[in-house]
Amino acid sequence: MWWIRTDYCGLFSAFLTIALVIFAQYVTVALVLVPWYGFTYHILTFSAICLLSVISHSRTQFADPGAVPFSTREEAALGPVVKPRHHQDENSALNKPVPRICRKCQCIKPYNAHHCSTCKRCILKMDHHCPWVNNCVALFNQKYFILFLFYTFLACIYCGALLVARFVSCTHNLRMCPFDTVSSVLAIICFIEALVFGLFVVIMMFDQFSAIFEGVTAIDQLQNRQSTKVLSKYDSLVEVFGEKFSWRWFMPFDLTPQIHQGFQAEIDEAIELLQEARRTQHTHMPAPTHVHGSEASYAYGAGEVEMYSPTMVAGEHLYHRNENYREPMEYEHDQESDEEEWDAQKLH
Ligand SMILES: [Zn+2]
Ligand SMILES: [Zn+2]
Repeated sequence: MWWIRTDYCGLFSAFLTIALVIFAQYVTVALVLVPWYGFTYHILTFSAICLLSVISHSRTQFADPGAVPFSTREEAALGPVVKPRHHQDENSALNKPVPRICRKCQCIKPYNAHHCSTCKRCILKMDHHCPWVNNCVALFNQKYFILFLFYTFLACIYCGALLVARFVSCTHNLRMCPFDTVSSVLAIICFIEALVFGLFVVIMMFDQFSAIFEGVTAIDQLQNRQSTKVLSKYDSLVEVFGEKFSWRWFMPFDLTPQIHQGFQAEIDEAIELLQEARRTQHTHMPAPTHVHGSEASYAYGAGEVEMYSPTMVAGEHLYHRNENYREPMEYEHDQESDEEEWDAQKLH
């Protein structure tokens, strides 16, 4: 089971989120609904909404968000590929962005993937790492995350409305509301919680849907990346929920095979692109930025340097990444934009 155990802040936040939902359910049912209405359908409805919120949260937290498999390390170990943009061919697979190789988890990093420093893995279609669910929100759990936001929002509205109605009825007839300090304080805390959480999840839902409709995840927006495909709003939602619209969209059921197949197709394509680029790179290798004796180096990013040792194969130079070469300075590779910058700068 996927479970981020190393981030104590995330573990605490995720636990706190569940505790707050259970607290709201207890206060609303035990202190508001039962004394006021007795046992009615409101108890069942509100409890069901809270339960769906908790289940959706747990599924978001404990789902593998879409980590690039370690099996890609074998292909990645052969080294990165330099993509010569000035040699692009309209019909060539080289036109697609060549996957990079993650320096941290040593896996192939498809164009749509990002390395999460908390999960310590490259995550496909990573939207963001959310401490409230102690996990990345990405391909395999975005549906659950949206359901968690949706049911939490419903619970906040429901709870807030019940508390307001209770307060209004009490102000009209005080004899119906025997004064109880503890219950009153808990009800006030619950009302504030419903307001704050309600507002928070509305903002998060707005962010999620705008990212889905634009086809650009939150992290891609930060890096000014463009969407790789154009889909209608409905098709974008179908992609996230893994099936056409039905009541199943509202249930935290298992993901459809469509989502798993899409994931595997992206990984397979990344491997193929890397292999294709590797097959052609010796004929398209751009001029090195520096030559040191028998070695060629390519400077990129903020002073980053990669070394290649040339060997002659069939009369042509093949460049292999020199694994023994130590970079002259310690670089922080967190900034993915550095790699993009490298890609753009070095080859023009
Ligand atoms: Zn990685
Ligand atoms: Zn993460």
